[in-house]
Amino acid sequence: MSLIKRILVTGGAGFLGSHLCERLVGEGHDVLCLDNFFTSQKSNVEPLLDSHNFELIRHDITQPIFLEVDEIYNFACPAAPGHYQYNPIKTMKTSILGAIHTLGLAKRCNAKVLQASTSEVYGDPEVHPQVESYRGCVNPIGTRACYDEGKRAAETLFCDYHRHNGVNVRLVRIFNTYGPRMHPYDGRVVSNFIRQALADEDITIFGDGSQTRSFCYRDDLIEGIVRMMNGPNDFIGPVNVGNPGEFTIRELAELVIELTGAKSKLIEMPLPADDPTRRRPDISLAKEKLGWEPEVSLRDGLAKTIEWFRSIDLSTYRPPTP
Ligand code: NAD
Ligand code: UDP
Repeated sequence: MSLIKRILVTGGAGFLGSHLCERLVGEGHDVLCLDNFFTSQKSNVEPLLDSHNFELIRHDITQPIFLEVDEIYNFACPAAPGHYQYNPIKTMKTSILGAIHTLGLAKRCNAKVLQASTSEVYGDPEVHPQVESYRGCVNPIGTRACYDEGKRAAETLFCDYHRHNGVNVRLVRIFNTYGPRMHPYDGRVVSNFIRQALADEDITIFGDGSQTRSFCYRDDLIEGIVRMMNGPNDFIGPVNVGNPGEFTIRELAELVIELTGAKSKLIEMPLPADDPTRRRPDISLAKEKLGWEPEVSLRDGLAKTIEWFRSIDLSTYRPPTP
């Protein structure tokens, strides 16, 4: 039996955070889930509420919090463009003040802290596939900047707390992840396409659909995250965690139509500003240092996600509120 730890997951009621909480509770750890429910609902963690080793805290990470913990996964931040652009100033506060408060907590408790960073730190990349040493191409004044620059500033804070205060940190750059429990109205491509296909509605392709993304199934992602937290102290990252399989958005739409048997048509809509042209992780570092690589193909992961979308009552999901 491994050592039981007190683990804080900020954003723990969200899509990824709730799966992480489930895994950590299953391993027997004392899990504190902190969330302000901006983009999530309690139903995501409802099955955990009866567990003796799970605690739910309603709190906004832009405010400091006093807790005693051994480890922190910092996941609190809206992740879908529609969510993070809803209140861009709040998004930046969540990233930056959230990082400062989690790092301050980690420093006081001598806790290890992992930051859920993002492939968005690479912006619209000129280097392909993206390696961790690439410094990125982000428009600092664009509509995606609140998220991209907020996450970049958080990475800076993590490195400075590590260098100056000796805080034990980990940086993981997460690439597009999907799966059951993603918010059905988050406006992200996978949720939009599946929802549209299941209703036989038009599938909304932004631009001509030639832009690419690399989609990672949530179970693979969570495995990579946990390995990074438990990896050697001399490897703080950043490390890319994502699936290197690269697909155009049009290919994704066609696969969703095939798997759902939908009668939907593909329609083109305007491409949002600063939409990255292509994105694919180089995961050599994760393979070498963590022995990690994804196992679930896009076809299999989408099939499971579609099954989940069929099972939910869409009327119980609400759009985000400030
Ligand atoms: P999500 O929106 O489902 O989860 C984010 C959670 O954080 C939600 O429960 C939300 O209510 C909470 N939250 C937001 N602001 C908060 C605040 N100020 N205080 C407390 N809680 C707050 O998104 P997700 O897909 O689960 O993403 C989780 C993390 O992973 C985020 O930090 C995101 O940036 C990162 N990430 C996700 C992806 C992806 O493809 N899903 C890709 C890259 C990075
Ligand atoms: N996209 C699309 N139709 C949609 C939603 C998104 O074509 O209904 C495109 C979007 O323009 C982008 C890609 O799909 O090129 C991925 O978008 P998403 O919002 O899922 O994630 P991100 O852009 O942050 O990678």
